[in-house]
Amino acid sequence: MVNGYAPSGMREALDILSKTSAIPYAGGTDLMIQEVPADTNYLFLHRIRDLKCITVDAEYFICGACCTYTELLNSRHTPDLLKEAIARIAAPAIRNTATIGGNVANASPKADAALILMVTDTLVRIQSKNGVRIVPISDLYLGRGQIDLLPGELITEFWMPNNRAHLPHSYEKVGGRKALAISRVSFAGISDVSDGQITHFATAFGAVSDVIIRRPELDALLIGKSIEEAKVAKEEYLAKMDETLVPIQGRVSAAYRKAVCMNFLEDFLAKNGI
Ligand SMILES: Cc1cc2nc3c(=O)[nH]c(=O)nc-3n(C[C@H](O)[C@H](O)[C@H](O)COP(=O)(O)OP(=O)(O)OC[C@H]3O[C@@H](n4cnc5c(N)ncnc54)[C@H](O)[C@@H]3O)c2cc1C
Repeated sequence: MVNGYAPSGMREALDILSKTSAIPYAGGTDLMIQEVPADTNYLFLHRIRDLKCITVDAEYFICGACCTYTELLNSRHTPDLLKEAIARIAAPAIRNTATIGGNVANASPKADAALILMVTDTLVRIQSKNGVRIVPISDLYLGRGQIDLLPGELITEFWMPNNRAHLPHSYEKVGGRKALAISRVSFAGISDVSDGQITHFATAFGAVSDVIIRRPELDALLIGKSIEEAKVAKEEYLAKMDETLVPIQGRVSAAYRKAVCMNFLEDFLAKNGI
């Protein structure tokens, strides 16, 4: 028996969250495999239409936290990079119920949609009965499974900057098999090279450490440079990335994870002529 509330609007949902310890339940694909006490209460989010928007404005691609992967795959607004990653998540049955908000809130370093939100410096809209705050997604992660959400707060939307969302990109995922596989290592990179000048360069690595790795200060070593200058800076860049990528040892060895990350990074540099 599952107990809970199923509000039909945001105001009701936030009111319940402010008065109870109900756990937000979106698609349930992460929650349903967790063992919980029999008296656990859930806040079912599926009836809240405000959490389902998919749109674009002048600055952002915006999607509601409760958009399922299938809804995002079917929308003409969803950037190709996000679609590429989603298409490799689980299988259609899971994608029909699993949501992008659940992927982020679960705070797993293996979360494939979150990797794309990280590399594109997406903003996260968070709401409670007391108001709204908007934070860069990288500020949200405190550690494996730990997210900077206060009691009473819900993730409501993701705002992906248009000037990041549609840049040339690479997405790579290594799993135990080609489909229905959790990431063993994942990589996303976006870049903007115009008139031989690197105007944007961003990389992110998943399933390597306790949180998704994104080091904008290192990627910045290449930004503003010509391709020729970037070739000179490449050795320093790779050495610093090598230092920063400290994989955990799990079912997959740390040495394997490191080698795959560095190969993906070098391929991405080569793809950009660096
Ligand atoms: C067979 C299988 C295969 C899978 N394959 C992949 C895969 O390839 N790649 C991948 O990344 N993941 C995979 N997953 C994990 C899972 O499907 C995803 O992480 C999914 O996006 C979770 O979304 P959900 O809506 O089901 O989350 P839920 O289970 O509903 O919630 C997950 C967590 O997020 C919290 N939460 C949900 N929504 C909100 C919100 N709006 N605000 C605040 N907190 C919220 C919940 O309280 C809970 O802690 C797989 C799972 C299964 C069962």
